[in-house]
Amino acid sequence: MFCPQRFIRNGSFEAPNPVSESSQNRQCNMSEIIKTDVVIIGAGPIGLFAVFELGLLDMKVHLIDILDRPGGQCAELYPEKPIYDIPGIPEVSGQGLVDALMTQIKPFGPTFHFGEMVEKIEKIGEPSFRLSTDGGKVFEARVVVVAAGGGSFQPKRPPVAGIEGFEGTSVFYSVRKMDVFRDKAVMVVGGGDSALDWTLNLQPLAKRLTLVHRRDAFRAAPDSVNKMKALVEAGKMDFELGQVSSVEGSDGKLSAAIIKANDGSTKTVACEAMLPFFGLTMKLGPIAEWGLALKDNLLLVDTEKFETSVPGVFAIGDINWYPGKLKLILSGFHEAALMSQQAYRYCFPDKRLVFQYTTSSTSLQKKLGVS
Ligand SMILES: Cc1cc2nc3c(=O)[nH]c(=O)nc-3n(C[C@H](O)[C@H](O)[C@H](O)COP(=O)(O)OP(=O)(O)OC[C@H]3O[C@@H](n4cnc5c(N)ncnc54)[C@H](O)[C@@H]3O)c2cc1C
Repeated sequence: MFCPQRFIRNGSFEAPNPVSESSQNRQCNMSEIIKTDVVIIGAGPIGLFAVFELGLLDMKVHLIDILDRPGGQCAELYPEKPIYDIPGIPEVSGQGLVDALMTQIKPFGPTFHFGEMVEKIEKIGEPSFRLSTDGGKVFEARVVVVAAGGGSFQPKRPPVAGIEGFEGTSVFYSVRKMDVFRDKAVMVVGGGDSALDWTLNLQPLAKRLTLVHRRDAFRAAPDSVNKMKALVEAGKMDFELGQVSSVEGSDGKLSAAIIKANDGSTKTVACEAMLPFFGLTMKLGPIAEWGLALKDNLLLVDTEKFETSVPGVFAIGDINWYPGKLKLILSGFHEAALMSQQAYRYCFPDKRLVFQYTTSSTSLQKKLGVS
């Protein structure tokens, strides 16, 4: 399983993108202003389902997410755990739900922008908004849907003195372009899926790859662990049991890392690029600065339209608050359906909204490609 999110925003790394490779949904890289009906911030389960509800009402959607693939918490935090409370589906894994949602929204051809954090929203009309991302993309939309969950996933920085000085030049928390590691002495730190996946992927490119983990037990897929051990046995890479205690280098360029073993002994290992994978935390991030009314760091919404304090900006899923709110996927799905009704009125002010069932409406079935 790849977990290569982009966190170092001035880095030039590019992650492989399973979505654009495996689905017909488009991945957009345009630098001009992107105009659309609706921008959804966050491609977690609720942002994905909102594409469906908006699509049934003919609204075109672009989704932006900091991560490199869809699914939010389901894909990032518990892809293999079973969920038992999705209506009508007795059991589905986190990733299974995301895959099903991606299939469900395919007829609407949403455009995904991964590896981008929305930093700014400006009001430019009644309603109409301009959004900009840290990657330099600019969007204009009539409606903005904030489906940002718990906020942005941020990497946990390892407790190594001075490591900040090497971040973005020699220390990375994600892989954006594998080629950057070609012919370098690479050190991967950690024992989870991300650490093991990138060990296996970068080992053939690197001049020498060292995996450092504080224990001989791993929290990664057994197959990946076995492959890594086989490479070590074959002398094709190194494994060091211990922790990185300090780093050496200058002007942002790493030259070595000092590994402290569990018995207290130390060892200097050549290292030009380091990839620490110490897990993620979630932070509200720039959303707090968008001038939207907050309640306990969540976006305050009404329960009729799930609109924030700014007309035209909606908040659905884990990011919102209203009396009685439950942070459940099923609640977010309901919120997406009601939000879409009001979004329609903003996008098509002159059109009448007719309520229809997918079971009986041939026009909805046409949109879904089933009739
Ligand atoms: C271990 C675990 C088990 C769970 N089990 C269940 C369960 O059994 N049933 C259930 O109903 N719920 C469960 N949940 C909760 C469920 O996962 C959440 O309710 C759901 O993921 C919320 O979906 P969301 O789309 O609102 O947000 P998220 O899934 O958090 O997705 C939000 C997305 O927004 C992106 N984002 C945030 N800020 C920005 C920004 N500024 N720019 C661009 N992108 C941004 C993030 O990168 C993220 O991908 C569980 C949660 C956890 C952690």
